[in-house]
Amino acid sequence: MDERIAWPEVQERLSRVARRLGVPLETAGVVDGEPIYRLRFGRGVRVLLAAGIHGEEPGGVAGCLAFLETEAEQWRERVQFDVWPCLNPFGYIRGLRHNGRDVDPNRQFRNPEDPLSTLMWEKLQGQRFDFGLDLHEDSDFSGFYIYETTEEAPWFRRTVRDAMARVGPVCEWADEPTVRHGLVPRGRAATPLRERLQKRRLWPLAFLMFDLSGHAMTIETPVLQPLAVRTLLQVTAVHTALGLVLKQRASQP
Ligand SMILES: [Zn+2]
Repeated sequence: MDERIAWPEVQERLSRVARRLGVPLETAGVVDGEPIYRLRFGRGVRVLLAAGIHGEEPGGVAGCLAFLETEAEQWRERVQFDVWPCLNPFGYIRGLRHNGRDVDPNRQFRNPEDPLSTLMWEKLQGQRFDFGLDLHEDSDFSGFYIYETTEEAPWFRRTVRDAMARVGPVCEWADEPTVRHGLVPRGRAATPLRERLQKRRLWPLAFLMFDLSGHAMTIETPVLQPLAVRTLLQVTAVHTALGLVLKQRASQP
């Protein structure tokens, strides 16, 4: 099924959200002839939120938009947001995973020639965040799953999974990628994650988020479910994770 919010409607609704929040809908740059939007608002713990880097995963964009429309107002006194609601509009418009140069944009974050990666590094370099959240979907799945990228023992993802499981189906078991009860297990390694990532050549956005915050999460909602369910799953993931970031901050001295 290819349900998606038409791109002009996404643009119109983002403009409306920005007006309501009293901030500009920034165009951070232009990639493949399309605008890369960014919204910055709020104060408190710093959260980087992104969606739509894969064009055939419209639920991430729909979830991000729904979050901005229905919940951003209530979090803005506690969370400082940096939101990139659709990172691959070229792909989104055409329902394609790849960008205008037919490469997977979510593997280019160490490629100095990639325009999206260059743009994001340039705009975000030197900033610190408390948490990064990247909203994706999986086209072949009928249940959701979650990755967590952190040096610490991962502790957000079970809570996020349990909250999401109350609104939509969990992927209980899969081998590509490996999923166990909605979670992608972490490999055990003696070397620190930061060191291991430096050796990796193909960086997804989650690694940039980890680099800037030390803690990133990737949500994968199932394209085989209706868009309305996936949207609700994404919004649930975002607000549950935000609650955890605030709780973590409150417990720090
Ligand atoms: Zn994806």
